[in-house]
Parts: sequence; structure tokens; C-alpha cells
Amino acid sequence: MQEYFSAQGWSNPLSRRERDTLNKNFEFYRMLPSRSRRIFEYRVKRFRETTEFIPREMPMITDQMEILISASAIQLTFGFDDVILSHFERVIVYPDQFFSTTSQRFHKGEVNPRFGTIVLSWRYFVEGYAINEGVNLGLHEMAHALQLENVIMNDEFGFMDDDDIRMWQALAGQEMEKINNGTGHFFREYGGTNHAEFFSVAVENFFERPMEFSEYNETLYRTMCRLLQQDPLLLMKSI
Ligand SMILES: [Zn+2]
Repeated sequence: MQEYFSAQGWSNPLSRRERDTLNKNFEFYRMLPSRSRRIFEYRVKRFRETTEFIPREMPMITDQMEILISASAIQLTFGFDDVILSHFERVIVYPDQFFSTTSQRFHKGEVNPRFGTIVLSWRYFVEGYAINEGVNLGLHEMAHALQLENVIMNDEFGFMDDDDIRMWQALAGQEMEKINNGTGHFFREYGGTNHAEFFSVAVENFFERPMEFSEYNETLYRTMCRLLQQDPLLLMKSI
């Protein structure tokens, strides 16, 4: 954490307007203790500076949009000191659902490791953070990017513990089976598609409904805390 303070002093990494954007729209940021909030701001700034934001089917991406998308990436990676999804250098934003040439279907978001690209529909990104029901497009796509980042050979390789990953896969397999045989009642059906989708769906619930998640399956919740090196329940208890 040293670097955030020694090199930069205590000057604000974000402008007042940018901090207002986070205060008004980003609950995770609001819940952080003040010292962590400052670290969050530095990391949002760093993600934003190292990422190219590209508008599609709309004229431009506003400062506010860039801040909130960066904040979504940092929320997910906040437990790791040095992970800012560096393989993913581009974020492409559409106003609404978009037609994916890869799948020949309409998508709300996708992650393309070959091109280092995260693609988001702004409408669904906003909706995800507006309603806390365990569906969050930004976190869902960032979770795909995080899983890929962990296995792509670069500076950020292998930051998740192998034993925790194995434990996660075994527990996730059981949950996916429950979804697919109709006995699961907590995670949405899409989580039963494959392991990557289950991880992303679980991440959405981890941040949006941590209490319900841990009551439903505490071992799975604790395993995710270890995988992501953070516990949203502690944040909720601290306010
Ligand atoms: Zn997905």
C-alpha cells in the first residue's frame, strides 16, 4: 500500500466531481472506510488511465461512465494489491444490447481474451448497480475477465490460490448440479451453463446479497472470500 501514499502524498487522486460520481452511484465505495476509499480512488484512476474506452453505436463515453466502469473492475479486484485486469486493455461500450458476430445473437456483455476486450451494454450496466437482486452485468463480465487474467501468462498470473480454486470447483459443481436438476433455489439458472458462468453469477450474488449467499451456503461463500481476498459482509457490518 506504500506506493499510494509516499509517491503521491495525500492529494486526491480523483477530482471532486469524480468522487461525487462514486458517492452517488457506487455503494461499495460508500461503504469503505476512508483510508480504503483513498486506495480505491487511486486504483480507479489507474484502471482508467491504462484502459482505452471505445464507444459503439453512440457518440461518446462520458467521464462518469469511465469512472463507474473502472470502479466495477476495482470492486472485484480490490482484495489483490496489484491486479487491475491488465490483459484487458479495451472496454467497448454500447448503449443497449448489441449483436455479437461471434455468437450471432444479441448480448448484454462479453469478454474477449483474444483481443483483450471487455464489452458492456451501458443500459444493463446501470441497471445492475441500481437494483440489488443478485444480477449485475458489470461484475459478471469483470468476473470472467478476472478468471481469465488469473490463467493468462503475464505479470498478474496466478494470483488465486490453487487449493482454493480446487475447493471452489468441487463446491460449484454441486451447486450447478442443483441448478440443472431443479433443486437449486438461490443462484439463477444461467449459472448452470458452465463453470465460468457459475463463477460470474456467484460473484454477482457475493457482492449484492452477501448475507443471503452466506446463509444459503456458507462454505461456498467463505471459499469465494478466500479466492477474491475480500469479504463484503465485513464491509456491511462496518457501517
Ligand atoms: Zn457470462
